[in-house]
Amino acid sequence: MNRRDFLRVLERSAVIAALGHCVKGSSLSLVAAQGESQTVLDGRRGRPQIAITMDDPQVELGPFMGWKEANRRILGALGERKLKAALFVCGMRVDRVEGKALLSGWDDAGHLICNHSYSHLMYLRKTGYEEFAADFLRDEAIIAPYRHRTALFRYPYLKEGDTVEKRDHFRGLLKEHGYRVGHVTVDASDWYVDERMMARLRNVAGAKLEPYRDYLIAHLLDRAGFYRQLALDVLGREVRHTLLVHYRMINALFLREVMAAFEKAGWEWIDADRAFEDPVFRREPQTLPAGESLIWALAAETGKFKERLRWPGEDDVYEKPKMDALGL
Ligand SMILES: [Zn+2]
Repeated sequence: MNRRDFLRVLERSAVIAALGHCVKGSSLSLVAAQGESQTVLDGRRGRPQIAITMDDPQVELGPFMGWKEANRRILGALGERKLKAALFVCGMRVDRVEGKALLSGWDDAGHLICNHSYSHLMYLRKTGYEEFAADFLRDEAIIAPYRHRTALFRYPYLKEGDTVEKRDHFRGLLKEHGYRVGHVTVDASDWYVDERMMARLRNVAGAKLEPYRDYLIAHLLDRAGFYRQLALDVLGREVRHTLLVHYRMINALFLREVMAAFEKAGWEWIDADRAFEDPVFRREPQTLPAGESLIWALAAETGKFKERLRWPGEDDVYEKPKMDALGL
């Protein structure tokens, strides 16, 4: 053993001893120290991971909150955790001076700025390929000026075409433009909980909002649990998840608490670009009508999970009776 090797061994022992002190308050043997750090790593690896993806930033959130306040709160909640989200921009909602300022706030904070079409068309019967393709390209100009513009496209309503031709033609166009699909794995109806909350606020000045927060948190956790289990059953492994939430007042008010609730339930928040690195996001389910959560579509493609799949995967009709019953 030469001097340099000796020093390296000495250094490593010192580090391990320090680690032992740090972990247990006394020096540990090499084996015990390694075991300890392994446990910490395993613990981390065992937590399901999920990223925030937020759709439809808008300068008009209704009469109770302005977009500046919404931006401050949402970016604040993400910033506290040093977390980078993906923002899916629908051009018509931000195509004005304030909209540019809204998007700049996200861009400056390092979040991904992605394409969600210009007019939010539903790519089913009424919308043909030509119209849908032109609308996707029109949104390019909206997101082009931003440093963190990212070539991810999210289909409005998560609808990816109702014929093989439409579906595959548009998938081809995305590839031509260097795009990938910004899939949702955990779909939900946060927008509907927001609609109900806004209706209550319009009817009852100063109405209590906590019950809407609690419903939102329970709903998102429930859907995350459902899609996580479905992914495990379909793919046989844990995937990195992407949660769909919308740029709405309810999330501006409560995103911080949503995030804390997920952590308490065992989830780990990760950056959106890290989530989208998971190879699952390169899958192209051959289903019709195409779309929904990526996990939903992969499950449908196998033909084995029919009793667990409803279409659409998520919608207001599933939440309405539950919210009615709760008097929300
Ligand atoms: Zn949308």
